[in-house]
Amino acid sequence: MGTMLSSTEEQTVEVVDRLHDEYPESTISLRFSNRLELLIAVILSAQCTDERVNSVTADLFEKYDGPEAYAAADQEELAEDINSITYYNNKASYIRDTCEQIVEEHDGEVPDTMSALTDLSGVGRKTANVVLQHGHDVVEGVVVDTHVKRQSRRLGLTEQSTPEAIERELMEIVPESEWQQCTHLFISHGRAVCSARNPNCEACVLEDICPSSKLDSDTDLASGERW
Ligand code: SF4
Repeated sequence: MGTMLSSTEEQTVEVVDRLHDEYPESTISLRFSNRLELLIAVILSAQCTDERVNSVTADLFEKYDGPEAYAAADQEELAEDINSITYYNNKASYIRDTCEQIVEEHDGEVPDTMSALTDLSGVGRKTANVVLQHGHDVVEGVVVDTHVKRQSRRLGLTEQSTPEAIERELMEIVPESEWQQCTHLFISHGRAVCSARNPNCEACVLEDICPSSKLDSDTDLASGERW
């Protein structure tokens, strides 16, 4: 029986606690060894799996060893290097432009503020949040990806639909100490159990508090449509 706890704050804390118990080792799955590699991996990961990105960056990071190398790269060659990634032409262009900005405006260093990061080509708030959290140890917000968006709506934590609005609401109800980790917990749960098309509600540790549970609800609150 999926019944939400009495307040959204209580519901949120309980969800995060249970997911902590379920996925104690949850962390970022992109591979990188410095801030620039992190930034490039996150740009590449938009609408693409981390697994695919990791397989491409294994060679990419060997070939290009810093922002100057990417900035000077031939557009077609760079696009070819990442051609198994979704939107590889656009992403090659973002990477070249971003690296040019990093060289010219930031002395070759990946910036450490939200405003400077989001001024870079192809970098939105989600990418900037990831780079701040994992590259600079600065937690300014909650990374809202497709898993966070889907589950926070399914679990009744928010009714918002844009990542920006969802992030604002989550920052109100998720304890600040959990802003970073809650994203990884939702990603782990989304991959293991609460998938977009066919969540395995029978096996879900949140089933009894989930108002979207297929066991007793007709509606997926993530989409607002019937299961
Ligand atoms: S798997 Fe089912 S019960 Fe669990 S959070 Fe997702 S929709 Fe809710």
